[in-house]
Amino acid sequence: MAHEEAAKPSAGVKLVIRNIGVLLSGDLQQPILHADTVVVKDGKIAAIGRERELDTEGATRVIDANGTTLAPGLIDSHVHPVAGDWTPRQNQIGWIDSCLHGGVTTMISAGEVHMPGRPKDVVGVKAMAITAQRAFAALRPSGVKVLAGAPVIEHGMVEEDFRSLAEAGVRLLGEVGLGSVKDGPTARQMVAWARKHGMQSTIHTGGPSIPGSSLIDKDVVLAADADVIGHINGGHTALPDAQIRSLCEESPRALEIVHNGNERAALFTLRTAKELKQLQRVILGTDAPAGSGVQPLGIIRVVAALSSIGEIPAEVAFCFATGNTARMRNLDSGLIEVGRAADFVFMDAAQHSAGKTLLESVRLGDLPGIGMVVIDGEVRSERSRNTPPAARVPRIVR
Ligand SMILES: [Zn+2]
Repeated sequence: MAHEEAAKPSAGVKLVIRNIGVLLSGDLQQPILHADTVVVKDGKIAAIGRERELDTEGATRVIDANGTTLAPGLIDSHVHPVAGDWTPRQNQIGWIDSCLHGGVTTMISAGEVHMPGRPKDVVGVKAMAITAQRAFAALRPSGVKVLAGAPVIEHGMVEEDFRSLAEAGVRLLGEVGLGSVKDGPTARQMVAWARKHGMQSTIHTGGPSIPGSSLIDKDVVLAADADVIGHINGGHTALPDAQIRSLCEESPRALEIVHNGNERAALFTLRTAKELKQLQRVILGTDAPAGSGVQPLGIIRVVAALSSIGEIPAEVAFCFATGNTARMRNLDSGLIEVGRAADFVFMDAAQHSAGKTLLESVRLGDLPGIGMVVIDGEVRSERSRNTPPAARVPRIVR
């Protein structure tokens, strides 16, 4: 497990990835790109196309994708980090490194709520949020980008608190409902203050997750109007179908489906979003670490479940964990597009999958085999130690 400073990609680095079998864009409008080569300069995507048409001269690194599928690095929209790569929730070390081996390159905190002795007074809440933001900005466990510093709102906070948090660099609000504020009107006021000062918010949806957490029903979710309807499929206890349908129909906000939620409610949400032609609102998270632990393969498990049982093409399901989240969260990653961060996952059908191709195997409900993960143009892991072995893996040529 490597604990590393968030290094700036050094100038003059040129990465060429060639022989890509299938290129997934992360974009619902065109999920598959017709290209076999990606050129990266200084950590950003510089060109996408056919190898013979691109300038591949002077590469400092060359990767032969070996016919595998390249997708944007996966984004986990809902995690609860605490300190570096340790979580006290199940007393586990190295959980973020394990998720890297599940293809995750970016994680977004929904609140550092598992901090032992978590402060609940306003000054303590603010101090902890700023500390978490600073700590994860300075240190990326195994290279994974963890966007943290997500205070959970408590009664007594005033607009000045949100202004000063934003000024200090805090850009997120943790799950509304995990603190003392559980009523619609107060939540709505604080979410609005956060939004006014450039902070994005999320809200707990459904029954209590663990003792001490509580029910947040659709009326509170609609009143609060947070940017993300956090775990709309419950964490784990889901709302009744009629309430989930109301959230899909009456709110324009992101519909976040998590691994640590109710699977039937996840499928209900997906089908409702599809019926409403609003699949662009669907984003994925794990909600790990949680009572049900850490799932290093949580995001690809949800992708495979939604694609197979939810009857969605696999290339579309991958958009839920990449481009949709990136757009919703204003990230510079998540899409294969010139100028975006060079965060990639290389996948192939797992050995002996009934599916002949990666996309077919996921459509049949199998997990992909991950062969390599790249963050900001740097190789962070090769053949995954956690997924079933990929039939083919990329090779570092130079
Ligand atoms: Zn929650």
